[in-house]
Amino acid sequence: MIRDFVYLRPHTVKEVLDLLEQHKDGYKIICGGQSLLILMRQGLVAPNYLIDIKRIDELNYINFDPKEGLRMGATTTHRAIEKSSLIGEQYPILVDMEENLASIQTRNWGTIGGNLAHADPAGDPGAVLIAMNATARMANKKRERTMPLEEFFLDYFETALEEGELLLEVQVPVAPPKTATAYEKFTIIKNDQAIASVAASVTLANDNVSCKDARIVLGAAAPTPKRAKEAEQLLVGQKLNGGLLDRVAEKASEKAEPVTDIHATEAYRRQLVKALTKKVAKKAWEQAKTLA
Ligand SMILES: Cc1cc2nc3c(=O)[nH]c(=O)nc-3n(C[C@H](O)[C@H](O)[C@H](O)COP(=O)(O)OP(=O)(O)OC[C@H]3O[C@@H](n4cnc5c(N)ncnc54)[C@H](O)[C@@H]3O)c2cc1C
Repeated sequence: MIRDFVYLRPHTVKEVLDLLEQHKDGYKIICGGQSLLILMRQGLVAPNYLIDIKRIDELNYINFDPKEGLRMGATTTHRAIEKSSLIGEQYPILVDMEENLASIQTRNWGTIGGNLAHADPAGDPGAVLIAMNATARMANKKRERTMPLEEFFLDYFETALEEGELLLEVQVPVAPPKTATAYEKFTIIKNDQAIASVAASVTLANDNVSCKDARIVLGAAAPTPKRAKEAEQLLVGQKLNGGLLDRVAEKASEKAEPVTDIHATEAYRRQLVKALTKKVAKKAWEQAKTLA
């Protein structure tokens, strides 16, 4: 049963920040409610004040600048990202990722800010956005700050957001030339939460055959989305071949910290990380080759 709470519906970011400051004795922000309401129904979260930011239009936007890259406001829904022609043209991997995230109903309500702030290690956007070198912008009443998304996730369902802080937007830089990102998740039911997932970004050198840079991020395989940096390093300076991909996949799976639960064993998840790493690294590499 959900315990009684005071429901507050501010209209501007300034009003939200004022309320967060005033109600430090037990507030919770709610946006789409797709994750929070489950926790409230289970009695795991019982705020005194529920601060609803769903209708803060200031935070509902998708902007792209050819120099600065993409900015998505925190209250932007998954469905808006999926349906954005701008994102489809500039960052098609985000559309692919969204199309496989939950059901249309959940995507219609759930938001990118809520997804990242919820910090479920099985969430899809975290791994993909870290592979794309994204940053998070946040504010409280006194200051605003940005940080690499890679540093935003601290532990299971725990982020770097401090008391009184609101996630404002996620920023994705313009990718270097000849860079492609691929993402795959393994699920038991289509569009469900990942049992394991991997995102990879590959940048090719001017010769169009050797790897200049790579980012590999594991999802649902550790308490937070996790970069497999040693695996990335194995790719840099190399030309694509099967033996290389095997070594990269092996290194990535060594980096995983999976758990055994009702869905899969630790060993099975490690195998998934290996198979998915091989698949996405190859896919990103081959896509990068086709780019101007
Ligand atoms: C059936 C189902 C299937 C799902 N499948 C997937 C899936 O396949 N992949 C996936 O990634 N996710 C999945 N999800 C999770 C869900 O889509 C996301 O977690 C959702 O996007 C959360 O957004 P929201 O706006 O509903 O957040 P809410 O539920 O409103 O809030 C979630 C948390 O974030 C905090 N919060 C929200 N906005 C902010 C903000 N701007 N600043 C600071 N804190 C904030 C809240 O306080 C709360 O702690 C699924 C959910 C359901 C119900």
